[in-house]
Amino acid sequence: MSQHKHDLTRKIITYMIAGAIFGVILYSIGRWGMGYEIDPVKRQLLYPATVTAWLFDGAFRLVGKIFIHLLQMLVVPLVFVSLFCGTASLKDPAQLGKLGIKTLALYLLTTAIAISVALMAASFIKPGAGFDLPNDLTFAAKSAPSLIDILINMVPKNPLAAMAEGNMLQIILFAILFGLSATLAGAAGQRLIAFFNDVNEVIMQLVTLVMKLAPYAVFVLIASVFGRFGFDALGNLSSYFFLVIAVLLFHGLVVYSAMLKLLAGLNPVVFLKKMRAAIAFAFGTASSNATIPVTLRTVTQRLGVDRAVASFTIPLGATINMDGTAIMQGVATLFIAQAYGVDLTLAQMGMVVITATLASIGTAGVPGVGLIMLSMVLQQVGLPVEGIGLIIGIDRLLDMTRTAVNVTGDAAVTCIVAKSEGHLDESIFYDPDAGEIED
Ligand code: ASP
Repeated sequence: MSQHKHDLTRKIITYMIAGAIFGVILYSIGRWGMGYEIDPVKRQLLYPATVTAWLFDGAFRLVGKIFIHLLQMLVVPLVFVSLFCGTASLKDPAQLGKLGIKTLALYLLTTAIAISVALMAASFIKPGAGFDLPNDLTFAAKSAPSLIDILINMVPKNPLAAMAEGNMLQIILFAILFGLSATLAGAAGQRLIAFFNDVNEVIMQLVTLVMKLAPYAVFVLIASVFGRFGFDALGNLSSYFFLVIAVLLFHGLVVYSAMLKLLAGLNPVVFLKKMRAAIAFAFGTASSNATIPVTLRTVTQRLGVDRAVASFTIPLGATINMDGTAIMQGVATLFIAQAYGVDLTLAQMGMVVITATLASIGTAGVPGVGLIMLSMVLQQVGLPVEGIGLIIGIDRLLDMTRTAVNVTGDAAVTCIVAKSEGHLDESIFYDPDAGEIED
């Protein structure tokens, strides 16, 4: 029996809260003790140049960035090797097709639910009604790639280039084809699979090592955001901000829980408890992509999902499944419509559901991209893309929170699909100590 005293999750959460408190104290001293102003566009506290240079751009940036680089360093080798081994371990390769269709269907469904709830909430609460528009807004729109191009670009011309660029969909496709071929290649294939299984073990060990640094890095990452952004800087955007947070919490806690219970008969409390470390990583880094190693480790070693399923669904989800991002985009679209005094028809709202779902697929799992992809949605329904300028200043905290939801969604769908395919080991799922790292 473990005492739960020295587990890493507990330490990460403690340091995360401590980082938030430290950041708030720093902000309060600067704002009210020293009387520093807030940058009206970036909505950040304007510290003196030396504080910014030594602390925010110095110590905080050094520790935070090194940690994020360490995580990113693991993503490509881990995804390739674990997906190769996972594919090769499937008894029946045709299973991959079924798995893929179920996963895609659930990813799309959860995103559509997320955005619909966001639209309903924003129509009801009207966060943008009576908003005073500044007249100097500018924002350049991003155009949507065509479906044909998306499909063509999934196939790598050069797998090494795909890895060098971190192009996740191309890496996924190559790893699956390589894994399938290994199973067909007889003894040579078996030798390669055995070798990569060893590589996989070593990389997972590296993930564990990097995770041990997480408490300190999460402290710094959170303190750095809370030290610069204060709730008093939200001003007339606070109803937008809190509405996005409320829908994110609803989706993350209620919708996923209901789905886990109803579709897979799994206990959502156990799920959420075991997801805490991954959620803290997502929150700290604001990047589903950088969180992949931790999410993958959590679902396989703590929640009992077979690697064959998780090594496919987690990187895919981190790339295309962004429920939190879709929620922000839904609320933001209505907020901007209301601020500009435009009434959206029901048909236009339907359009928002479709484009936001597609936009969230196209959003890379890196910080801040969700907001850039919002321009696609706005253009689709004829709203001014400059509206994004209204909310960009307060996006960092929302980005962190929606990334936590994005990652939770990937893991929830992974558990549901794994359970339905007989690839979830419930004795691991319900073992509180399974896969926990000793601090
Ligand atoms: N930061 C988000 C993620 O990595 C994407 C976004 O919404 O900007 O999941």
